[in-house]
Parts: sequence; structure tokens; C-alpha cells
Amino acid sequence: DAKPNDLESFWMPFTWNREFKRNPMLLASAKGMHYRSVDGRDILDGTAGLWCCNAGHRREKIVQAVQQTVEHLDFAPTFQLGHPLPFELASRVLQMLPPGYDHMFFCNSGSEAVDSALKIALAYHRVRGQAERTRLIGRERGYHGTGFGGISVGGIVKNRMFFGPLINGVDHLPHTHDLSRNAFTRGQPEHGAELADELERICTLHDPSTIAAVIVEPVAGSTGVLIPPQGYLQRLRDICDKHGILLIFDEVITGFGRLGTAFATDYFGVKPDLITCAKGLTNGVIPMGGVIAREGIYDAFTEWADNTGNTIELFHGYTYSGHPVAAAAGLATMEVYKEEGLFERCAELAPYWEDAVHSLKGTRHVIDLRNLGLIAGIELESRPGKVGARAYEAFRRCFDKGLLIRVTGDIIALSPPLIVEKGQIDEMFGTLQSVLNDLD
Ligand code: PMP
Repeated sequence: DAKPNDLESFWMPFTWNREFKRNPMLLASAKGMHYRSVDGRDILDGTAGLWCCNAGHRREKIVQAVQQTVEHLDFAPTFQLGHPLPFELASRVLQMLPPGYDHMFFCNSGSEAVDSALKIALAYHRVRGQAERTRLIGRERGYHGTGFGGISVGGIVKNRMFFGPLINGVDHLPHTHDLSRNAFTRGQPEHGAELADELERICTLHDPSTIAAVIVEPVAGSTGVLIPPQGYLQRLRDICDKHGILLIFDEVITGFGRLGTAFATDYFGVKPDLITCAKGLTNGVIPMGGVIAREGIYDAFTEWADNTGNTIELFHGYTYSGHPVAAAAGLATMEVYKEEGLFERCAELAPYWEDAVHSLKGTRHVIDLRNLGLIAGIELESRPGKVGARAYEAFRRCFDKGLLIRVTGDIIALSPPLIVEKGQIDEMFGTLQSVLNDLD
């Protein structure tokens, strides 16, 4: 039998985190803005779990919705049957978007949402007689989960190097960070349109009528908070329109209020054809992801017939698609967001947040600061030959001082629950500053 101290020997957590296995930091409970560690310490959550608990932890309404649903219905095979909750959740989420979106597909994670969106894009062109549109375009340093689709279009070489051959015919746009590197930019840097023109260059390398879709995170989160420069997303939209390419926004992080609007599509005023989401969809309580489709996309599948007039239905879906308990959690989460005006609250807090982020200017090791909505990227100078070591040490020291941050390489990412108070923002940056100043 496993003794508690041995537990970490059996579990295989995120593979990157070897240090965690040697020296695990374990959580026992959570409420509101805080986790409690197994040794009884309160930890201020600077990352909303992993960008998901946007309404804070263990919210009564969501917990109750989960409990009440599971008491009545534990599972419904949406393969053949259904139940009302995912219909309600889809309609609720669609109402939060600008007009023009009419269907939502449910899955269990961001990775599944991305794979589903890529499949929808490929199938959409096929059913419309454009079978040659198979190329996919992602972006360097894009993160789209760990499925084969996601790592193929994702722009992190080490995430895909052991797993080939992957999806064929993928190109990557240059990432959006160089323009603003070490610029301590507040909000969005300038000159995005020129950068987006790289898509035109790819279109001249390959016949644009062979390109199915472009997928980007509106703000790249997991690779260190890379904020698109002004005009970038709109120019991508324009080029996609010109060539009949579908545009996919991966809003797994930006969805559900992180920028102060329901989705980044509102924030940037750019409408993609497909939107992926997860995380904040259920406030992190139950795994759930989703793909939102622009009008006409779902209809293309249902109206499709081959040249002999037979309808051939494409097959896609998961055992747990539209799980009743997850859908109940999602509906309750949408209620909490609305009742407490959390997206508006995020927009109101954003200037205060921005000042707090930039108060770190001049702090030891800090070489760049980036922010948008309630997201921040704090880039540290790497120790020679040891990329990531300094930020990882900052992460552990912050945890010891009662603050949870997230690190990727030597970039610290912050994304607190949208219920964060100004005093807690001050506390976060105060702790971080003292940790960084004490760090070699
Ligand atoms: N896309 C984006 C933009 C993400 O940030 C993430 C997760 N951080 C994913 C996809 C993958 O989501 P999951 O881990 O739920 O599969």
C-alpha cells in the first residue's frame, strides 16, 4: 500500500516538472482567492489555478450545481441520447458573443477543443468541394495543447520533437514578441499589421487555395504572455478573408473575461470563424472544453451529400462530450460571472493592474514587463546556460511566502481570479519584488 509520503513515486504529473516529484508542494483545499497547502498555509492564487478559476475557488453556486446534478444524472451518452444542460450552456455562451456564431461543440479539454476545431476546419472545406485545402498555419511559440493536432500547429519545437511524424503541411508564422522585446510596453505594442503580412508570404510559398486554416491565441499565454501588436489580428482576418482561409482563435486562456470582455474577439473587435475554449468554461471545477462556430459552418456538414446524392455523416465526438455534470458547472459558472459582473470588474481593474505590473520596472533581473486585462508577463534575465532556473526558483520562493505564480522558461505569468482585490494585487507584486530582489 502506498504511504502518503510515497504517493509522488507512483503518480506521473506533468512530465516537465521533475523537481515537483522530488519535492512536491501539495494543496489540500481552496476558497476564493486562496489555496491552502497540506501543511496548513494559505497561498494567494496569482494564476487562477492554471488560468481557469476566473471566479475564484470553490464557489458555492457552482459546487451546488455539480452536487445537485450528479444526484439526479451521473452520465448521459450524448452519442445517442441527450439532456437539456449542454443545449442551455451552448445557448448561454453564444449569447455572450457578438452576433454571427450559431453552434457550440463540447469536449473535455483545451487540447480536444483544438483538435476538434482543426478537424472542423478541414472537413468544412472538404464538404464544400475544396479537398485540396489541407494546410494548417500556426505561430511560433503558439501553445495549443498536447494532442497531435495541437502540437503540430503549436510553435514549441520541444513539445513536438519526440512525437513525429505529425500532421503534414503545417507552417508557423513568426511570433509576435520581437517587436516589443524589452520594451516594457503597456497594453499593446505597435506595428502589428506588418508582422501579420508574414501570412501573405506563406500564401506566396504555397498556393493559398491549399490552406485550410490559421490558428492563433489572441494573446499567447503559456509561452510567456505575448501580446499581439496593434492591427495584427485584424490583418490576419483580412488576409484569411482574401484567400478563403478559416481563422481560428484559441481562446482557452482569453475566453471568459480575462481581458475584460467575454472573449478576446470582443476585445480586439476581430471575428474568427472558430473559437476554442476550456478552462474558465467551468471555472476549472470539472474538465470541459468547447468549439464555437460561425454561422454556416455546422450547416455545411449537415447539408452535405456526395455526388451520388448520399449523405455521409462525418464522425467526431467524445464519450464525455456535453457531460451533464460539466454542463451544470458551466451554467452555474456563467451565472456567477454575470451576477458579479466579473468581466466588467476585470476591465475596471486593468489600469490598476497595469500600474502594479510596471511597478516592477527596475526590480532586479526584470528585463521586460507585459500586461493586458488581468494578465501579466514578467520576463527575467536568464542565468547563463540555465534558462528557466531563475524563474523556477522565484516560483518556489513565492510559494514559500504564500503566493502562487506560474513560470515558463524565465517568464513569470500572472493571471489572478477576476475577484481579486486591489490589496491582493499589491500583496502579489510586493511579494514578487522582494523575492526577485533576494534572488541571485
Ligand atoms: N490552448 C491554449 C491556448 C492553452 O493555453 C491550453 C492550456 N494551457 C490548451 C490549449 C490546452 O488545454 P488543456 O491543457 O485543457 O488540454
